[in-house]
Amino acid sequence: MPPRYMLARNYLVDGVGKNELGTLSFDELWRIHVQVTSGFRELLFELMENPRDRLVNGGTGSVSLLELKAEITRRLSNPCALCERKCMIDRRKRIGACRLDEKAYVHSAFLHMGEEAPLVPSGTIFYGGCNFTCVYCQNYDISQEYPRHGKPVTPRELASIQDLLAGKGARNINHVGGEPTPSAHIIVESMLYAHHRKPQLWNSNMYMTEELLEVLLDIIDIWLPDFKYGNNKCAFRLSGVQRYMDVVPRNIRKAAEIGDMIIRHLVLPGHLDCCTRRILEYIADKLPADRILVNIMGQYRPEHLVSRYPSRWRDIARRPRPEEIEEARRIASSLGLCWRPVS
Ligand code: SF4
Repeated sequence: MPPRYMLARNYLVDGVGKNELGTLSFDELWRIHVQVTSGFRELLFELMENPRDRLVNGGTGSVSLLELKAEITRRLSNPCALCERKCMIDRRKRIGACRLDEKAYVHSAFLHMGEEAPLVPSGTIFYGGCNFTCVYCQNYDISQEYPRHGKPVTPRELASIQDLLAGKGARNINHVGGEPTPSAHIIVESMLYAHHRKPQLWNSNMYMTEELLEVLLDIIDIWLPDFKYGNNKCAFRLSGVQRYMDVVPRNIRKAAEIGDMIIRHLVLPGHLDCCTRRILEYIADKLPADRILVNIMGQYRPEHLVSRYPSRWRDIARRPRPEEIEEARRIASSLGLCWRPVS
């Protein structure tokens, strides 16, 4: 089956001319998107049942579904509502809570051998900036301290990076950071110019708005969400985000309905009952758990602010004990979750 972004690029939208796209209001674009994606998703589900390696044409217009999505994402980025922080600022003039202006900054791009076994070698692109402010961030240099020190890329340059990684043998194109969400407008547009036939993978904290998620659902093949917290209090205290439990489970649930997924959960020391257990129970109860792999990650170490000021976050100022990781795995097994092949 071709990657979804190629299917969407080949799927034409009836009744919209190329020159018209920029003149339509956001509401008009969104109405067309809702209509077109319902037909496109039928096609996706059909292909998931009976995969075949050919592109299928949609309507008869001169604009593709992918072009429509690129226009919608561009509008979502200004005023910025790409993620649920909804800063609603003009990023050409101001920096958002993700510490980014309107550009996407690539800090590195290489074949990553350290991802989950089914994904490697993974053509990983690290974007600067993040909409979370995790006090223990293991990637804090690019996400929080120097997010704009990477190379600013145009959509065409980003497409070339993807093609290069695919040519080197990447099994997928892995958009990660930091966090890819604040760079979504550049990433989606880059897919108009890419040539590779590798699945697109979204490696994310899943705090995007519902609108951005709807855009991504049809063009992302594999989801690699971080499910960090089982309650809003821990999310706010450790990552500075509000309404975590309203947003992240909602987005993970929608993405799991339509795409392949490996959920990552980093076990935080002392958070087995408030976070780990609740997350694993949510996956077992609310998600299609028979189609999802769960990576129970035991490699937490105090980093960033926690390592500098351990007395302020005493609960997580240590590594998890081996028995905590064992307990997390025992809970996952007792719930029937599949974690062994990827943990
Ligand atoms: S992506 Fe950045 S600027 Fe946009 S809403 Fe989120 S934090 Fe704010």
